[in-house]
Amino acid sequence: MRRKVLLLLVVVALLTEALLGGGIYAFQRALLADQAAERMEDVAVLLLENLVDEDLQAEVDEWADALNERSGGYRVTVVDAQGQVLADSGAAAGEMENHLEREEVQEALHSGAGQALRDSATTGEPQLYVAISDGSKVLRLSQTFDQIRALQRLLLLAVCGTALLTLAVAWALSYAAARRVLRPIEALRQGAGRIAEGDLSYRIPAQPDEMGALAGDFNDMADKLSKSLQHERTQRAQMQAVLRAIPAGVIAVDREGVVSQINPEAVRLLGLRSGRVGEKFGDLVRDDQLVDLARKTLEQSQGQTAEWTTDRVLQAVSAPIRDESGAGMGVVLVISDMTQMRRLEQLRSEFVSNATHELKTPLTAIRGCIETLRDPYVDTANPKILSEMLEIMDVQGERLQALISDMLELSRIESAPALADERGDLCAAVREAAKAVGVQAGKAEITLHVSAEGELLCGAAEERLRRIAQNLMENAVRYNRPGGNVWTTVRREGARAVLAVRDDGLGIPEKDLPRVCERFYRVDKDRSRNSGGTGLGLAIVKHLVRRYDGELDIRSKLGEGSTFTVYLPILREKANADREA
Ligand code: ADP
Repeated sequence: MRRKVLLLLVVVALLTEALLGGGIYAFQRALLADQAAERMEDVAVLLLENLVDEDLQAEVDEWADALNERSGGYRVTVVDAQGQVLADSGAAAGEMENHLEREEVQEALHSGAGQALRDSATTGEPQLYVAISDGSKVLRLSQTFDQIRALQRLLLLAVCGTALLTLAVAWALSYAAARRVLRPIEALRQGAGRIAEGDLSYRIPAQPDEMGALAGDFNDMADKLSKSLQHERTQRAQMQAVLRAIPAGVIAVDREGVVSQINPEAVRLLGLRSGRVGEKFGDLVRDDQLVDLARKTLEQSQGQTAEWTTDRVLQAVSAPIRDESGAGMGVVLVISDMTQMRRLEQLRSEFVSNATHELKTPLTAIRGCIETLRDPYVDTANPKILSEMLEIMDVQGERLQALISDMLELSRIESAPALADERGDLCAAVREAAKAVGVQAGKAEITLHVSAEGELLCGAAEERLRRIAQNLMENAVRYNRPGGNVWTTVRREGARAVLAVRDDGLGIPEKDLPRVCERFYRVDKDRSRNSGGTGLGLAIVKHLVRRYDGELDIRSKLGEGSTFTVYLPILREKANADREA
């Protein structure tokens, strides 16, 4: 830009110089020729007046010599009225052509005097011719234009020198002016470049002129751009944070089937190598169900749902992404792990059906007894029948009560967390439990061995601790043979209290071990029911132990016996007191 402006200014200066110089040159040349011609005319008049006509040739030679002595280049010619050369100081008159048509001769013959400036036909040099006529003869005086030319050269030199000087001054001035004019434009260009490169904090310095206003507009634009970029960055960061925090897999796919968003949970749930944005969805995800779902959503522009099972149960909900005009731009898929929920649903439904069944059994027995007693053919007056019926109703009623009470207990344990002020002595709880189980053990001819002396305080209500011990001891008696043994011990292991209930009874098959703590799960249904078990004893133990941050360990060998070990944290204040002691 600057170069163009400078070039333009220089061209204008040069043109001006050339025109001016050319004009001055031509004017000076004409002026010099006029002055010389005037002087020569005076001389020519004198010469013509003094022409003797005796020996013209000798005369012209003499005058020419005299003139050339003062300043060189003079030539004297005498021509008659018909143009024939009579004498010439520069050449042989007889050999010269007729001069009638010469411009200066013509002029002299017509008006008495004439002049011309042209290249000589004889010498080829530029000559100034002056001719004077008295009617019969024409005396022509000519001088080479050399001196004039020397003068003109000087003039040309002066003109060129001035031109160069003017050019230099014009260049310097133009450069300074261009710099001044172009500086704000350059600042604007540089500023725009920096903003375009991403330096949105840069502001162009603005002067109070038109360029300054433009720079101001530019700065405003950079401000707006910076704000909208910042806003966009914040939104993107927020979206990334949401995508990372959301407990579901999220994948966004564009119209061409290319992944534009994917969060870590989606990568984890679908077991992908990586979650690379820009990859083809079909190449990244191997689940046909999911690929189909995305395709259908795009085709029908309508949300869909799909559920499928791999090593877990996955559910995907899709929704089309639409632009403002409603045209489909892609699809977003939200994938959830439904394994736990489906398992819980299954457990709940199993529990409901098991509980219903368990409740129905004693109720059916009681109703059967009532029916029997109402039967007119049954002899209700017979005390044996009556006591038999009452015994059944009593046992089944008790069973129903135990069942309902265990179900309520389980629900209470599950719904309420452990309280901070709960505390109980595990040894005392075991002694209480042994007392309660003692009668049952006696009837079954099982010997109870209890080792729970002293005191071991745990952060659990003593009633709950008794419940744990009693359930385990009842089972050890229940699933045993007459003459069998149950060993119950309480000990301390570091910061934990350990309750172990071991029996030499029936034992549990290895395949059933992982499931014995499930609600209503029984290895031998009939034996359990007949011996008064509700099917909830171990479930209650498991939940209570979990509630108090403990652990339950079950080991068993079929036919040899089982050992149930409960680990519970000792109350901290008690543990501290012991350590201090
Ligand atoms: P139940 O009321 O049927 O005893 P539990 O939840 O207490 O219910 O026990 C679940 C099942 O675990 C029992 O039905 C029984 O088959 C088995 N079981 C529990 N304790 C023992 C044990 N000490 N020896 C053998 N089997 C046992």
